[in-house]
Amino acid sequence: MSHHKQAKETIAGLKKELNAVIVAHNYQLPDVQDIADFVGDSLELAQRCVSIKAETIVFCGVRFMAEMAAILNPGTTVLLSHPDAGCPLADMIDVATLRQWKERYPEAAVVAYVNTAAAIKAESYVCCTSANGAEIVNAIPNEEILFIPDRNLGHYISTKTDKKMILYPGFCHTHARITAKEVESARQRYPQAKILVHPECRPEVIALADAALSTSQMLRYAAQSNHKVFLIGTEEGLLHPLRKQNPDKEFHIIGDSFICPDMKKTTLETVVATMQTGSNAVTVPEEIKARAKQAIDRMLAIT
Ligand code: SF4
Repeated sequence: MSHHKQAKETIAGLKKELNAVIVAHNYQLPDVQDIADFVGDSLELAQRCVSIKAETIVFCGVRFMAEMAAILNPGTTVLLSHPDAGCPLADMIDVATLRQWKERYPEAAVVAYVNTAAAIKAESYVCCTSANGAEIVNAIPNEEILFIPDRNLGHYISTKTDKKMILYPGFCHTHARITAKEVESARQRYPQAKILVHPECRPEVIALADAALSTSQMLRYAAQSNHKVFLIGTEEGLLHPLRKQNPDKEFHIIGDSFICPDMKKTTLETVVATMQTGSNAVTVPEEIKARAKQAIDRMLAIT
């Protein structure tokens, strides 16, 4: 039996034993996406889990996502698929720094991208995703917004609102790496392609794109579009569901590689090890959980 087939059978057995569901982010390795019960973006996955009756959620992604699943699914054990899978963007802000910024801008409402630790969400007024940022900012009463932690997403939202946006200077290494030059050279190679980039990309990259979209929006856009060729400006794991769902269309990544090292820490082997040992359980202290949930619930009430 092949190595992979064996890992897949082991995982199927462990799923029954643990009464577990496995969810995987769109940026996970294709093999990992294929063993998951659901694949999607971070919020979709955390919400999806609410409607599933399982004792254990195995979250194939990074830590802030597993925390969000734990917050929205109290009483369920959430196991992260690799102990060190974090998000360098989320790590760019800590509670002490956020408190300093809040003191500096006392009138501003803190809008936190979901790519933040639970302790940061707990200090924020409302959360947003890369899909609903402008909607959230425009829906809350405050005229001044302190947007954390991604300056590129914050800048993109600022083009869709008249509110005063204060941008915390965090960024995602993976998305900020692609340059306008790479987009231009990709366009030359595929002049007929639609260019879809993630709002975590730099403003000058977004300016060259046909659309700035979250991963779930890219999947919807590609499915509904009459175009046949697409240039994709986000983590290359998304190519897997794009190609699977649109076998008649062509997808190319912008740049030579577009990889989030933390997303790629999870393999079938780490999933097996996590399930066998029950290790990497992600817990959020009750007091933080309640306040973080408030910020998430405010977002869900708007969208
Ligand atoms: Fe974080 Fe960027 Fe990786 Fe997403 S792609 S998990 S924002 S580092």
